[in-house]
Amino acid sequence: MSISNNVQRRMVEGSWIRKMFEEGTLLKQRYGEENVYDLSLGNPVMEPPPEFVQELKQLATNPSPGMHRYMGNAGYPETRAAVAEQLCLETGVKLTVNDIVMTCGAAGAANVVLKTILNPGEEIILLAPYFMEYDNYIDNHEGIPKVLPTDEQFMPKLDTLEAAITAKTKGIIINSPNNPTGAVYDEDLIHHLVDLLIKKEEQYGTQIFLISDEAYRKIIYDGLKCPPILHHRHSIIVTSHSKDLALPGERIGYIAVHPECSQQAELMSGLIFCNRALGYVNAPALMQQAVRNLQHVTVSVAEYQRKRDFLYNHLIEMGYSVVKPRGAFYMFPKSPQEDDVAFVRELQQCNVLVVPGRGFGAPGYFRVSYCVHDRTLEGSIDGFKKTAQKFNLC
Ligand code: PLP
Repeated sequence: MSISNNVQRRMVEGSWIRKMFEEGTLLKQRYGEENVYDLSLGNPVMEPPPEFVQELKQLATNPSPGMHRYMGNAGYPETRAAVAEQLCLETGVKLTVNDIVMTCGAAGAANVVLKTILNPGEEIILLAPYFMEYDNYIDNHEGIPKVLPTDEQFMPKLDTLEAAITAKTKGIIINSPNNPTGAVYDEDLIHHLVDLLIKKEEQYGTQIFLISDEAYRKIIYDGLKCPPILHHRHSIIVTSHSKDLALPGERIGYIAVHPECSQQAELMSGLIFCNRALGYVNAPALMQQAVRNLQHVTVSVAEYQRKRDFLYNHLIEMGYSVVKPRGAFYMFPKSPQEDDVAFVRELQQCNVLVVPGRGFGAPGYFRVSYCVHDRTLEGSIDGFKKTAQKFNLC
């Protein structure tokens, strides 16, 4: 066997999203692309905003000498300063260039953070349902994921969390707006969560990092705002422009560390070192330059909200049980039958592709991604309806 047992096991057990993608490809070959309604991927069909194209044109027509060379592993100071400035505006916390590391997407950011902070055997708390790549990222750096359930609205249960934190807890990853549920944590909850972490830090004499995956921070609906998590001095944001500027293939993201984090300078040096040691070296140079002036720009959130309303209203009318998403571009309805994989296969019979909840640590649900063309969303409605009828939902 040429590959490690661990990698082999993770490949087999892992990614339901990938499995659905492969099955979808087969269905598309059989029935034609236009007759298969693929709601399985979080790969936005929206194009990046026109401002991004302008920046690219500007960079191509007025290249500055050395713009494609290596740089410091933290990224260009000008881009880091622009990111810090925008975060100051959004959070009121006085971040500077010294608190930011540019990364290869949010995935790169998460890996850099986990490599930097984890000793072997230390625990990272995850709240199910969750983006299951976290399992791989934690494993990459010899940590142990500790998965806790959330409540009916997909909110953290603070008493369960309190009981789960031990001296081995190195951090908790939260993700709001959430993939796969679209849940958004409100300010009160964040405050309670932070109070709990501070209490537990005092109890154990440890540092417990609040790692906030904010890949969807700007994709939030109904006039809501994402409350900043930077009340906790041991908070770290990992995020990217994959979703807010629709650039997932360009691999541009960043880490932001609370300026008052204890041993902040050491932590930053560790992050910068790990960006290099993991082989990322630095975030893509051209992209760092392209997004520098776009920190306040976002794809059309109204478009996503329209798609959410369309899908949510239809699913509710058909009798599906769904918590209304308040952000991101996913919905996480209850599976009408206990076996979510079997239910996903039922939808497949109607050429509708979604992902079983167990792909997010929450069997008994399924994830629908609505970052797709209207024609795909509209085409899927018939399949959802037929399947709802089959299960006597309405
Ligand atoms: N975090 C969450 C919750 C995601 O859904 C994704 C991608 O879908 C990522 C991180 C990875 O983002 P990126 O493409 O910026 O690495």
